[in-house]
Amino acid sequence: MLSEKSKLKAQTARHKEMKKKVHQKSDLATNNARRTLVLTGNGKGKTSSGFGMVFRALGHGQQCAVVQFLKGDGESGERNLLQQLGVPVITMNTGCSFKEGYCAEFERVRAKEVWQQTREFLQDESIDLVLLDEVTYTIARKHLDVDEMIAAFEARPAHQSLILTGRAAHRKLREYADTVSRVDSVKHGLQQGLSARKGIEY
Ligand code: ATP
Ligand code: MG
Repeated sequence: MLSEKSKLKAQTARHKEMKKKVHQKSDLATNNARRTLVLTGNGKGKTSSGFGMVFRALGHGQQCAVVQFLKGDGESGERNLLQQLGVPVITMNTGCSFKEGYCAEFERVRAKEVWQQTREFLQDESIDLVLLDEVTYTIARKHLDVDEMIAAFEARPAHQSLILTGRAAHRKLREYADTVSRVDSVKHGLQQGLSARKGIEY
């Protein structure tokens, strides 16, 4: 038989648990929950989807910041437009791994530098949305540590949305995100010999 005191204790614990659940629910419903999205897979559409959400947020007058890991030295229509709009865009400018002049060590150094700038965005209360384009490769190539990255994501302001793109997203990133989309390739024009087109590929 439970004593009155332990019954009361159990009741209070249940009540507390219920209140916690209601609070969590209202956090979700009122948009106070952190939003993290991962766009991964081998098909075309990850980066363009990420930028699509940046433009969507800008259309609502929100502040955005973009970091392009690994690439960022080629022509880019989305970067041109964001720069015209005064949106900060940071690029690594290290070139592609399959092109001449590529240096893995330089890429590591640049990844670490760019990560420090990314941390500043993640700490900035005035930024509503951060896009980390092609960030998955910095983990796959062991330039940056996934746990350290997630700790920084978790410490950011709750209202700040975060979009991560790139192939082969690390399991921990997929687990951390609330939304994960995998873009599959059914076929791609470039594989059929078509060349990259302005406005479609870059
Ligand atoms: P996009 O920038 O067009 O949204 P993405 O971010 O999904 O593409 P990435 O994996 O970053 O694609 O690849 C970069 C480039 O490779 C893009 O120009 C894209 O068109 C091209 N690409 C994407 N998927 C394929 C594929 N399956 N075969 C050949 N080229 C591809
Ligand atoms: Mg991409």
